[in-house]
Amino acid sequence: MELKNLSIRQLNNLFVEKKAKPSELYSDIFDTSASSESLLHAHLALFEEKNIEIAKNSDKRFENGESTGLLDGIPIAIKDNINIKGELTTCSSKMLSNYRSPYNATVIEKLDNENVLYTGKTNLDEFAMGSSTENSAFGLTKNPWNTDYVPGGSSGGSAASVSARSSIGALGSDTGGSIRQPAAFCGLVGFKPTYGTVSRYGLIAFASSLDQIGPITKNVDDARIIYNAISGHDALDATSIDNNQINIPFDKSAKIGVIKELMEDGISDESRNEVSKVLESLKNQGYQIKEVSLPLIKLSISIYYLIAPAECSANLARFDGVRYGLRVEGKTSYEMMQNTRAEGFGDEVKRRILLGTYALSAGYYDEYYGKALRARKKMIDEFSNIFNDVDYLISPTTPTAAFKAGEKTSNPLEMYMSDLCTIPANLAGLPAISIPTGLSKENLPLGVQLMSKPLTDLSLLNFSEVIEKEVDFDTFPKGLEK
Ligand code: GLN
Repeated sequence: MELKNLSIRQLNNLFVEKKAKPSELYSDIFDTSASSESLLHAHLALFEEKNIEIAKNSDKRFENGESTGLLDGIPIAIKDNINIKGELTTCSSKMLSNYRSPYNATVIEKLDNENVLYTGKTNLDEFAMGSSTENSAFGLTKNPWNTDYVPGGSSGGSAASVSARSSIGALGSDTGGSIRQPAAFCGLVGFKPTYGTVSRYGLIAFASSLDQIGPITKNVDDARIIYNAISGHDALDATSIDNNQINIPFDKSAKIGVIKELMEDGISDESRNEVSKVLESLKNQGYQIKEVSLPLIKLSISIYYLIAPAECSANLARFDGVRYGLRVEGKTSYEMMQNTRAEGFGDEVKRRILLGTYALSAGYYDEYYGKALRARKKMIDEFSNIFNDVDYLISPTTPTAAFKAGEKTSNPLEMYMSDLCTIPANLAGLPAISIPTGLSKENLPLGVQLMSKPLTDLSLLNFSEVIEKEVDFDTFPKGLEK
C-alpha cells in the first residue's frame, strides 16, 4: 500500500520500525500534489523546497530513536486563514494578498513542537465566508471525487488536499460548518471541537464567538491525534478554556438521539438514508435510540445570519488600508479606506459586512442582534436539556451531497441552506463531527454528523469510531483515477 493512504498511527509504526522514512512519505505526497494541483487547485501555496530538509531531520530522529511522537514527520496542510510565521496568510482575499504573518498561530506553535511538516496553505472562501470555496479571490477548488462539483467550504482546499492525498491531514476552521461540510462532501472525517478547547490565537477572525479550528482527516483516530496536539488552554486567547474532558459512555449503554427537525423538510432522501443506515447498525449492536425534538434548530440559520455577520462586520473593520495588506490611495484618508475596502473585499464579504452593520445599528440592535442573542441562549438551553436524556445526537451532516460548481452562486440563500445541520453546534459551542458513511447516486460522498455536550470531545471521537468501523467507508476518491 502507498504510504499516503495510511493512517498517522500506521505511518508512525513504519517509521519507528525503520520500514519507511518521513522523507519517503513526503516525496509520495509531493508527487501527488504536483500532479493533482493543476486539476484541483486545493492549495494557494506549496512549501516543497523547505520540506525536503525538514523531512530529513525527521528521518534522523527516527534513525536515532529520538522521534517526538505520532506527528513527527507527518505532512499537514493548513487553511490559509491560520498564521504561519513568515508565510503569506491571504484568507483568499485580495485584501490580504500581500500579507505575510509576523507570528505563529498557537496551533502552529503546538504542531511545531510535534515536528509536523506543513505541505502548504489551502484555499478557502474569502475570510471563511461560504460553503463551496467559490468565494475565493484566487479561483475555485474542485472536488477530487468529481471535478464538476464543489469540495464544500469554507475549508474546501483543506478537504480536497487530504482527499487527493496531497497531505495526510489538514487544519480547517469551522464557524458554521466549514470543517464538517467540506469533509462530508469529500468523503472525510471533519471534527469541530468544543468551543474554546483549541486556541483561536492566530486564526484570522470571522465570527469570534463561533470560530473554532479543527482537523480534517481520513479517519477518526487521525482527527484525535491532531486534536490532542492542538488543544489546551492558551492565555493568548481570551475565550480559551481548560480542556477538562468529561467522559460519557460510548459502549452499548450510550443513548443516541435522532434529531427530528433534521430528518424533515429540506433534507434529501439520500442524506436521511445515511442516518437510517447508521441507526440500523447501532440498533443491531444494542444501542438505545430515540427520536428527540429541538424546535429552535429550525431557527439556527436565521440566528446565525444575524450573529455571524454582526461579528464579522466588527472583526473586518481592521482592514482599512492602514494596518494590513492592500491599500488603494485616495485624496483623503477617508477616501483611501473607502477605495481599499471597495477593491479589497469580494461580494460575499461585503454582503455580510452590510448585513452585520445593519443588524448592529442603533435603531435595529435590539430588534435584530439582541433578539438573535436571546434565541441563541434559548437554543443552548434546549441542547442542555436534551443532553440530560441522551449522550449523542445524530443527523445528516449536509442536506445533500456536493453540488455542481456554479449551481448556487447566484442564490446566497440557497447556499446558506447547506449549513442547516452544522450551524447549531457552533451556536451552542458543542463538539461535532462528520463521518463519511456512503455515496450518493452520483457517486459523491455523504456523511453523518454526531454532536455531544461540551467537553466530551474524546468520548465523541471514541463513539465515532464505533460507527466508522461498522460502515467501513473507502475514502479514496474514485474520481481521481480517471
Ligand atoms: N458556510 C457558512 C458561512 O458561510 C459557514 C462558514 C464557516 O464555517 N466558516 O458562514
